[in-house]
Amino acid sequence: MSATRHVTIGGRVQGVGFRPFVYRLAHELNLTGWVYNAAGVVETEIQGSEQQLEDFVRQVIDRAPPLARPELLADHPVQAEPHSAFVIRPSQADAEPEIHVPPDQFMCDDCLAEVSDPDERRYRYPFINCTQCGPRYTIIRAMPYDRPNTTLRDFPLCPDCHAEYSNPLDRRFHAQPLACAECGPSLRLVEDGQVTEDNETVIAAAIERIQAGKVLAVRGVGGYHLVCDAGNESAVAALRRRKHRPDKPLAVMVPMRGEDGLDGARELAELDAGIAASLADPQRPIVLAPIRLCAQLAPSIAPGLGEVGLMLPYSPLHHLLLKGLDRPIVATSGNLSGEPVLTDPADVEARLCDVADAFVHHNRPIQRPADDPVCRSIAGRVRPIRLGRGNAPLELELPLELDEPTLAVGAFLKNTVALAWKKRVVVSPHIGELDSPRAVEVFRQVTTDLQSLYGIQARQLVCDAHPDFPNSRHVRDSGLPYRRVFHHEAHASAIAGEFDRVDEDMLVFAWDGVGYGRDGSLWGGETYFGRPGQWRRVASLKPFRLPGGDQVTRQPWRTALSLSWHAGFDWSGAPDFDPLLRRAWDTGLASPWTSAAGRLFDGAAALTGTALEASYEGQGPAWLEALSKNGTADDAPSLELITDEEGLIRADWSKLMAWLADQHIPAANRAAGFHQAMINGLVAQAKRLAAEYEFTQVGLGGGVFQNAVLGAGVTSRLTDAGFQPCLPEILPVNDAVISYGQIIERAAGGGVDPA
Ligand SMILES: [Zn+2]
Ligand SMILES: [Zn+2]
Repeated sequence: MSATRHVTIGGRVQGVGFRPFVYRLAHELNLTGWVYNAAGVVETEIQGSEQQLEDFVRQVIDRAPPLARPELLADHPVQAEPHSAFVIRPSQADAEPEIHVPPDQFMCDDCLAEVSDPDERRYRYPFINCTQCGPRYTIIRAMPYDRPNTTLRDFPLCPDCHAEYSNPLDRRFHAQPLACAECGPSLRLVEDGQVTEDNETVIAAAIERIQAGKVLAVRGVGGYHLVCDAGNESAVAALRRRKHRPDKPLAVMVPMRGEDGLDGARELAELDAGIAASLADPQRPIVLAPIRLCAQLAPSIAPGLGEVGLMLPYSPLHHLLLKGLDRPIVATSGNLSGEPVLTDPADVEARLCDVADAFVHHNRPIQRPADDPVCRSIAGRVRPIRLGRGNAPLELELPLELDEPTLAVGAFLKNTVALAWKKRVVVSPHIGELDSPRAVEVFRQVTTDLQSLYGIQARQLVCDAHPDFPNSRHVRDSGLPYRRVFHHEAHASAIAGEFDRVDEDMLVFAWDGVGYGRDGSLWGGETYFGRPGQWRRVASLKPFRLPGGDQVTRQPWRTALSLSWHAGFDWSGAPDFDPLLRRAWDTGLASPWTSAAGRLFDGAAALTGTALEASYEGQGPAWLEALSKNGTADDAPSLELITDEEGLIRADWSKLMAWLADQHIPAANRAAGFHQAMINGLVAQAKRLAAEYEFTQVGLGGGVFQNAVLGAGVTSRLTDAGFQPCLPEILPVNDAVISYGQIIERAAGGGVDPA
């Protein structure tokens, strides 16, 4: 008995080989009917026995291609004429498409096998891909995702590739970036003005240069990497010197070895199950892992830290290079400090001419940059630190519905932007610090791009409350209606959004560097009670001055001095003390007030002698955290909770700071004691506030919670005290989440009108 059913499948089903999969499945089960793409969903009509139809509905979800995230939206019997075959019908355009833009994908196992097989025509071809792998977001010029809308439009397919592209039973059916050595992109090496072409010659030359200790700029998927031998200290030191990056840790790409491909990584770091799974994840992120003492890595890979950022090769070119080298390489963003990763060959040759000894280019244009994503294991789970190539644009469902399409332009540091409409939100990859013209240019491109890719034009905007950020100015100049959201309220709303707690009250700690607060001072140690749109600040840190303003980020000893003066003692450890500084502190000249927990961590790092100066943001706290693991935490004075004249609970750190400056106590014990005191202080605040307000959920937001010692301590102590800690797992905890938090806050009716 033959029956007919109509099945609608939504979710991520476009650009992931879903229709050919449906086609093959229908053939396998001897079904007839049709399938087509319509408005972001896949519609299919299937005809066959009841048992076969049941099998189809189950397997179309269970056996979906790895990149697909299908959801069964509808499945019902229909009356239909008998079909004679199963066919793929042309896509149907629709007025309101549910577009999904796929992130860039690593090279799949099938392509890895093919690229390693001398009998395959794509043997050692550095741009091999299929419907299950290869670049996506960084090559898409416009939607729908079809070859003429990608940066491969100028590479006409050769007859062999065309045959694969057109055959529904081939695993490259409609693989848009499809390419081979005959018709696809190729490599080019430039060194001292000399150009080398031919893929094999370029790969051999690149390997030889890396072995010789040279620094190479290598064009990848979302931009260039700066690459050198990770075991060669003089090469790593040269890279650091030329890039003006003395201390910030460098990511390392490791060759795949052993049964699960992770033995190369195991030689360098301790991998627990979570870290191992993240390394092998198709997103291929940089994963921070505890470094092994015997690791064959140059000492200056990650100075002062007990962890190293590792990743597996994810493009065919990476595989070919690492197979030839058989050793780990540094693979750090090809950029000037803090700017978005460079993507264009001419730009990179001009801007990195003093950094790289040679350039490995290819001619597949990169439409927009995407840096590598980063994650870290905090409190028992691997959590994102940075969104990028492989996991962004990050598409999420909103817990609230928006009345109008809304664009949120995020924070000043670690900038991302978020586009939201109805119940959907899309968060961009990491853009970077908006303190350079290139970063602002990429910011503008991404805001325009996201809207055109998703076919959604924002009708309202959200920006930070700070009056003078380039992204806030962009919003002001747009002519569209907008609202401003305070930085730490965006952090609080981001937590409430991710944990779907928008209709119930919770407590949120927003601890980070500095953000513009409601009283115009620099906040960052704030505790909120409430829900999106209704946050109320109920506690904070005792405020202190930052003598020299922005200079404290590079010279945390200034913060340490200030903290000592507030606490009533004179710290003697400052490397460069000018009596004028004290006068400025007394009078408040260029010494703004702050309550930022991140700055307190900076000050603690300086007071313990761990980091008096810092060459990157968060260096002192990162070193202090690493040091704390070698110490014991007894005897640190706790933070005192004092209610100020406005009724706000203030955590007073004065006694703790005096203790931190005591050189009779080993520095590692002081580092450990400081972390313990901050954990105790946070939990004590939660307990005190629980007497006054009703909540169980305690959110943890802000970059300070990237600290794994703090994160683990706080979550376990809060749990013991009967609270439910909420530490983000889907979105980063740091300022990368501000754009998303701005959307949640706006959707809940929060924020303030233009100044
Ligand atoms: Zn593949
Ligand atoms: Zn071809």
